[in-house]
Amino acid sequence: MFSGKTEELIRRLKRAEIAKLKVEIFKPKTDIRYDETAVVSHDLNSVQSTPVDNSSAILFLNADTQVVGIDEAQFFDEDLPEVCNKLAAKGIRVIVAGLDMDFSGKPFGPMPALMAIAEMVTKVHAVCVCCGSPAMYSYRKVASEARVLLGEKESYEPRCRYCYNTKD
Ligand SMILES: [Zn+2]
Repeated sequence: MFSGKTEELIRRLKRAEIAKLKVEIFKPKTDIRYDETAVVSHDLNSVQSTPVDNSSAILFLNADTQVVGIDEAQFFDEDLPEVCNKLAAKGIRVIVAGLDMDFSGKPFGPMPALMAIAEMVTKVHAVCVCCGSPAMYSYRKVASEARVLLGEKESYEPRCRYCYNTKD
């Protein structure tokens, strides 16, 4: 969540728009941290998007859409990989951003299945706040076992594998 995933998604979608492609963006309705209708990254470089209740709703996209962006994919249901396959089979380019692991270091929601079927996977890493190494873990600073804890920067910090496993 500090790694620039949404920024990278927005960068790719803006390039598609510059190339005059029709772009549509979706995100799960559960992600309401900043704004109801925009994919908002941490530097507030935002792109308009459609919040949807479930992944199947993405299939009701505009008929002329050529590129679909999906943000916060880890919060979607397990049908998202099949939805992406259906879109890709129609010739639509699908670009998905999401957190690959939850706070306990477990694969997050539909992300592992998505990574398996994707042509290309880019892992973007934050910087470990303890030692400065590339960080791929989200260390939760508050005591809760709930998988989803919205509240962002106060509740999590990026850590490398070593610091995630050895430091309090
Ligand atoms: Zn570290």
